[in-house]
Amino acid sequence: MEQQTLKALLQAVAQTVIAHAEELTTLDQAIGDGDHGLNMKRGFERVSELADSISQQPLPQALTEVGKTLVMTVGGASGPLYGTFFMTFGKELPVEPTVADVSQAFNAAIAAVERRGKSSAGQKTLIDVLVPVQEELSAGAQDVLQRVNRTAQAAAAATIPMLAVRGRASFLGERSIGHMDPGARSSALVISALCDFLGD
Ligand code: ADP
Ligand code: MG
Ligand code: MG
Repeated sequence: MEQQTLKALLQAVAQTVIAHAEELTTLDQAIGDGDHGLNMKRGFERVSELADSISQQPLPQALTEVGKTLVMTVGGASGPLYGTFFMTFGKELPVEPTVADVSQAFNAAIAAVERRGKSSAGQKTLIDVLVPVQEELSAGAQDVLQRVNRTAQAAAAATIPMLAVRGRASFLGERSIGHMDPGARSSALVISALCDFLGD
């Protein structure tokens, strides 16, 4: 990927997250401690500040650098999880990846997040967006951006009726049902911003 393209992609993702900070905060106020919007905004503001230097590196190292930046800035439960995701994704990706390479690296990144969070699909977390997205990636290149984008949105919405078994939302037990998971929503936002950018 061209340096200028990668820089613009990082900016597009960062701006999307920053623009939705209030929505993420509102979601986290319902079933968490209300900081997910601020956490993500802080992290992606830093990614935006560093976009120039990050994009000077090859794609794999750039993604690893995004992960390190998020670990250092986001905080909360989501910081280490997002950080682990991007660091592993970068480590597993070749310089010029095919859709199959992206699918494989995405799979490895999910496994790393699951180990880190001691979590798996069905527990009302960001993993409930990442797993169906990976399944779309593994289904091949045809219309992959549209399919992934649609799946990410639907998967975030599908966390609404779920019972939270990980993270702060799990403290609410049954009262976590009926609200979208904030981390699932932020993951869908990041994935959607990536698909929109790459689709243009
Ligand atoms: P905190 O809950 O520490 O305040 P955030 O509000 O930034 O952190 O992030 C909350 C989100 O992190 C949740 O909505 C959920 O998606 C995700 N999350 C929390 N704990 C876990 C876990 N153990 N495994 C996977 N995801 C988790
Ligand atoms: Mg929180
Ligand atoms: Mg917190």
